[in-house]
Amino acid sequence: MSLLKIVRFPSPVLRQPTQEVKAVDRDIRRLVEDMMETMCDVNGAGLAAIQVGSLHRIFIIEALAAGGEKTDVPLVFINPVLSNLSTETDVRDEGCLSFPGVFISVKRSLKLQLSALDIDGKPFTVDAENFFARAIQHEHDHLVNKLLYDHAGPIKRQMIKRKLDKMTDEEAMDILRTYGD
Ligand SMILES: [Zn+2]
Repeated sequence: MSLLKIVRFPSPVLRQPTQEVKAVDRDIRRLVEDMMETMCDVNGAGLAAIQVGSLHRIFIIEALAAGGEKTDVPLVFINPVLSNLSTETDVRDEGCLSFPGVFISVKRSLKLQLSALDIDGKPFTVDAENFFARAIQHEHDHLVNKLLYDHAGPIKRQMIKRKLDKMTDEEAMDILRTYGD
């Protein structure tokens, strides 16, 4: 396994269209393992493949965020499809590994369903609520190129740009390792 470089806003990579995974093969499994190691290294709650420069429609969510134990293996969602988003919502601050040190209030559905393929290529469906549902919506946003930045107002957007434009890779990693996602 190896650590991957996390793509940071405003990299144009984060706005590139994502692609369906045709087959869950050895290359995909290796990518997912590397994503897990990368997310773990910075204590993230979730990570989409596009955030490590791969356009595959894949994201992972930390087990703790999904209601499991911290030490459990992260959940893997390949070619995920969202459905049954509840009209009941809440607003909470969200972070993102591509926006080190930035937190934005985002309105999200409290409940949803998600169908996807697992690491063996088998289809499955989960019902998620609260923080797990929020994490899924955040990661799913990455697959349709929607970013935390898009949820911010004009003044906050200026602040984000200014902050991230001058941030070095080293500073970014320091912030992520301290605060996570
Ligand atoms: Zn994110």
